[in-house]
Amino acid sequence: MSKLDQLYARAPLWLQNGMVSTYGVYWHWARFGPNFEKYVQDFHAREDFSSSEWKAYQEDQLKRLLSICARDVPFYAQRWTDQQKQAALQGDLQNLPLLEKTPLREHPEQFLRRNLRPFPCFKFFTSGTTGTPIATYFTLAENRQCVALREARSANWAGVSFFEPRATFSGRIIQPDPSDESSVYRYNAIEKQVYFSAFHLKPKTATRYVDALYKHNITWLTGYAVSFYLLAKYILDQNLSVPPLKAVITTSEKLTPDMRAVMQAAYRCRIFEEYSTVETALFASECEHGRLHVSPDVSITEILRPDGTPCQPGEVGEVVTTSLLRSYQPLIRFRLGDLAAWDPEPCPCGRQMPILQEVVGRIEDVVTGPDGRQLVRFHGIFANQPNIIEGQVIQETLRDFTVKVVCTQNFSEQDVADIKSRMAQRLGEGVMISVEHVESIPRTPAGKFQAVISKWHPQ
Ligand SMILES: [Zn+2]
Repeated sequence: MSKLDQLYARAPLWLQNGMVSTYGVYWHWARFGPNFEKYVQDFHAREDFSSSEWKAYQEDQLKRLLSICARDVPFYAQRWTDQQKQAALQGDLQNLPLLEKTPLREHPEQFLRRNLRPFPCFKFFTSGTTGTPIATYFTLAENRQCVALREARSANWAGVSFFEPRATFSGRIIQPDPSDESSVYRYNAIEKQVYFSAFHLKPKTATRYVDALYKHNITWLTGYAVSFYLLAKYILDQNLSVPPLKAVITTSEKLTPDMRAVMQAAYRCRIFEEYSTVETALFASECEHGRLHVSPDVSITEILRPDGTPCQPGEVGEVVTTSLLRSYQPLIRFRLGDLAAWDPEPCPCGRQMPILQEVVGRIEDVVTGPDGRQLVRFHGIFANQPNIIEGQVIQETLRDFTVKVVCTQNFSEQDVADIKSRMAQRLGEGVMISVEHVESIPRTPAGKFQAVISKWHPQ
């Protein structure tokens, strides 16, 4: 814990709020300072590009980026063969190797351009559910562009703006004591932003979250999909009502149709999905027609088969991205660990930006049945189970599964039998399922809820 974190942890609540606001002044400048408006306008202007304009834009950006990598980024300069460097100088992406997470995790500084010394430099950590977090570095301009991107393509598409009061769920620890439920959020007056604690959310604290929406005139919500979904469930279960909201924009986890329906009922507004990563390695957001458009000025996004060839539209494959927006720590053909498929149907909105049919899930969330079938979005087994408050599926071995449940007092043997039959229905015969009652399901260090954990992976 840094000295500042220690001071924060010991400070009284009024001082914590003051510190959050002071921190807010600095971050407000870092996000919305000079050029921010211009970046937003640029993102909007490119939305009118035709397919051929996008292609030309990407080729131009890619050539510039790859020649920087071959020359000035130690990792690529050392790893790429002469032949690969030649390919890079010609902007030929297909002949370059895929980038795994391990080298980036172990030596993030090897990916920084050696001819740049940006100040200030922003360091963020990915909140991956497996492995240690990865350090990612942004220049001031890149940081502002990433916020401008979210303003233009996420908030504005949903009819809201970062200049309106919002509430967020993120990995930020705003209440250092996990057992202290007296205050579950902090308020940043500069940005009119309520930071909700993802770690303190449970049925009995739900009213405190709802009260904050009224108190600070919140008009939209954004952040962890699962946290906003759980809060929505508590709101419906407890018959709470929220102030009029314009939109909810979910991030971080996949938004399933069930989650969307529950949130729509609780928040009484439209729910929009955003798909990105801490590194802004790619960016996809939902337009007014509910389609998930990938931003071609953020990355070149590939969806690949296990043999490395590109998938056909509709075919699920692994997402690999080359970041065009960030050139200080460039990621070339980076394996994100996500599975997705392209949608060939054009969107009535007219934007010539590729569309993802669906983001199926993370590779590490895949559960494997004894006959080799692979399943994602497994938490569907908890849909329409009124006696289950939270549930988590853990694959221990090929045949052994544990299902952890936090349940209401009405939970009975019938519910246990229900879970077991739903599991067997999805996994096939020959699996052992044990259902475990728990008080709560722990969050990851980043405050995320994991619906599925697989400890077993096919070799
Ligand atoms: Zn569209």
